[in-house]
Amino acid sequence: MKYGFIIDNRKCIGCHACTTACKSEHDVPVGVNRTWVKQVEKGEFPNSRRLFSVMRCNHCTDAPCVEICPVEALYVREDGIVDFDKRRCIGCKSCMQACPYDALYIDPETHTAAKCNYCAHRIDIGLEPACVNVCPEHAIISGDMDDPHSEIAMLLSRQQVSTRKPEKATRPNLYYIDADDVSLIASNTEKSDAYFWSSQSLGVGHFAKEAEKLAFSNTDVVDALMKMNGPGDTHKPKTVEVLMDKAKRIYDAPDKGILWGWEVSGYVWTKAISAGTFLVLFLLWFFNKPGNAMMDYTALGVSLVFLALTGLLLVLDLDQPKRFHYVILRPQWNSWLVKGGYAITVFGGLLTLLIAARFFDWQGVYSGAMWATGTVAVVVAIYTAFLFAQAKGRDFWQSPTLAIHMLVHSIMAGAAVLLFLNFLLGAFEEWESFLGLVLVISILVNAVTILFEMVTTHPTQDAKTVVYSITRGRYRNLFWVGIVLVGNILPLILLTVPVMSPVIMVLTAILVLIGIYITEHVWVEAPQRVALS
Ligand code: SF4
Repeated sequence: MKYGFIIDNRKCIGCHACTTACKSEHDVPVGVNRTWVKQVEKGEFPNSRRLFSVMRCNHCTDAPCVEICPVEALYVREDGIVDFDKRRCIGCKSCMQACPYDALYIDPETHTAAKCNYCAHRIDIGLEPACVNVCPEHAIISGDMDDPHSEIAMLLSRQQVSTRKPEKATRPNLYYIDADDVSLIASNTEKSDAYFWSSQSLGVGHFAKEAEKLAFSNTDVVDALMKMNGPGDTHKPKTVEVLMDKAKRIYDAPDKGILWGWEVSGYVWTKAISAGTFLVLFLLWFFNKPGNAMMDYTALGVSLVFLALTGLLLVLDLDQPKRFHYVILRPQWNSWLVKGGYAITVFGGLLTLLIAARFFDWQGVYSGAMWATGTVAVVVAIYTAFLFAQAKGRDFWQSPTLAIHMLVHSIMAGAAVLLFLNFLLGAFEEWESFLGLVLVISILVNAVTILFEMVTTHPTQDAKTVVYSITRGRYRNLFWVGIVLVGNILPLILLTVPVMSPVIMVLTAILVLIGIYITEHVWVEAPQRVALS
């Protein structure tokens, strides 16, 4: 048994009855939607058309929202319906980043994720979903696709159908008849704050605070497409032609803005400092460059404090912060949020053990714990790259270099912190030159990684748009001044000064840490400005 939907665009009249029936059936608050009708106008008078597309959860066979959810709040039923349990949800918003179809929202009343659940409660008693029941045109067809006698199975066998974003390999179970790419592909039309019958400039519901953070403006997207392809380029992608055709989104659900804000870029930064401080301490120990007890305690303490800050920021970002322990106690092991949560916990325990072993002079324990902590520190440094890769909605995060990028950032941050501590506490000359060398190598690797990210040909239009926004669009100042100059070039220049004065040491460390934060901020935020629906 496998339930699915067909949206028959030949019949839809854009009356919004499905939207309102769904709202009423599930008490969906104002400003958020489980299903909605996107309206796009295409062409120019008199050859213009208005297209309606019903948008909702696609009940994917390989649902990325289910895979990323750390607490099994989202799950696939035996009949193929992707359902959710709000009592388990911690409000981490990972599912919203993972869903390529923009199907989920945070309920402003329960502060938990929600979406179309195929009216599972109605299905269980033999009824059809509310939207199917109410549609005056029978434009929404539901049913068991495995039953060859069902209407949906017969339509699927006879009609040509399309799905949204098949390249995401989610195997959606929502099919459109007579759909137009201008509607189904989000980047083909501008996302705006003012539509046909509505102005959303003040924001609504849970996303009111995100009011000014709307997705890329039309100028950003068109500029990106035109500059990448050139106005006269005959190979320009269809998106440019469509935009030139003046396709216009005239009605849609509100933009959800930035889902992961400063707390997430902050946590990636504090995590880099925590893991990196230990990793560089490990390198000093491995290459037999001992400091003194005070340096060791301080470095381990800094690592532990920034780890605690990482946990705090993670909890702060949750919409249900009191449920943060569900990640550890009710884990869904496929989620990298869970693997990361455990890595952070184990890392904290090992750092504490190391402090105790140093204090009580347990030499055997100390060296064993150093190796174990070093291994876990690498996991702590890079697991977020795998979490971001599970966020299938964000094309730019699918980059294979993200793990290297995070590891290198950790080493840079660690070397910078230890350089700073060296100035404050000990001034071991041997450390100074070693840390300088680690910084130079890691900055060079970082620069190459960033260069690779920026010049490599990204496979999708959304990822290309993000690269454009970073290097030439909205984030260009942060990129060229904050990341390239402050975070990489200036520290490199300072590190080439033959004798490092304390002022240079401190300045280098501060510039590197600022550069890393700005990079995390841009890398976390820019991809979220691309509209998913
Ligand atoms: Fe629905 Fe999106 Fe999850 Fe697919 S990924 S099942 S569309 S919420």
